[in-house]
Amino acid sequence: MSNTLIQNTANVKGAVAGVAEEAESVLASVKAYLADLSESGVDELPLTVSPLVSAAERDMLLGPPPDIIDGMAGAETLDMIRLDLGDCRRCQLGNTRTNLVFGVGNPNARLVFVGEGPGRDEDLQGEPFVGEAGKLLTKIIEAMGLTRSDVYICNVVKCRPPQNRDPLPSEIEACSSFMLRQVKAINPSAIVALGKFAAQTLLGVKTPISRLRGAFQDYHGIPLMPTFHPAALLRDPALKRDVWEDMKQVMKKIGMELPAQKTGAAGVEQP
Ligand code: SF4
Repeated sequence: MSNTLIQNTANVKGAVAGVAEEAESVLASVKAYLADLSESGVDELPLTVSPLVSAAERDMLLGPPPDIIDGMAGAETLDMIRLDLGDCRRCQLGNTRTNLVFGVGNPNARLVFVGEGPGRDEDLQGEPFVGEAGKLLTKIIEAMGLTRSDVYICNVVKCRPPQNRDPLPSEIEACSSFMLRQVKAINPSAIVALGKFAAQTLLGVKTPISRLRGAFQDYHGIPLMPTFHPAALLRDPALKRDVWEDMKQVMKKIGMELPAQKTGAAGVEQP
């Protein structure tokens, strides 16, 4: 080994020993400080974590928190919210989407349908509920005596999760305030949450959709009816009857007459 290499190795060893000594000294000081506090009768310390961003920066990134949005009813238009979203990359779904799927329908709708997130067809077309499940939703809406342009349709998250996986909590956190702002801008008489994920996310519960459906819940002052997702009806057509029962309750809630026809949601015989 050359003299230079031996000298460098010695220097490194010396530096490491110095750092270790310093760490031991800091640790000893902390221990002594805690021992002093303990002797003085202090047996716990408050843990405060400094936020990484200020409240104003958080609002700029994620939009205002729900309690502020509640007080904003009618203060924003859908166009303003869409403008605020822009070419959104607030979560990682922004990097894999084809189109941001904002929502579609009547900005003054009495009824808003909320699903989980865009699927493949929705991602490609930039419009919610346009695939097979979407066609079934359109039939349900028409069975109620309405058209897609009478109601408003949107999702909890605006960009397609890869392989249609469930959105992650961080993605919901980043996106869901925009859905709440949409609802507040429209101020409908009722909301229908389509499927387990949308219902559980909006209501903040883990109750199965089979137990949630059929009864109105409160969502920021607006009656919300959880029901099965149209995709579930494609897998199990027997669920159509339950959905139609839920839609009849919704129609009653928003002051609609039941349509005079023999069949209800997507071909289900009305009782
Ligand atoms: S999912 Fe929502 S928050 Fe995430 S990038 Fe898309 S629009 Fe933005």
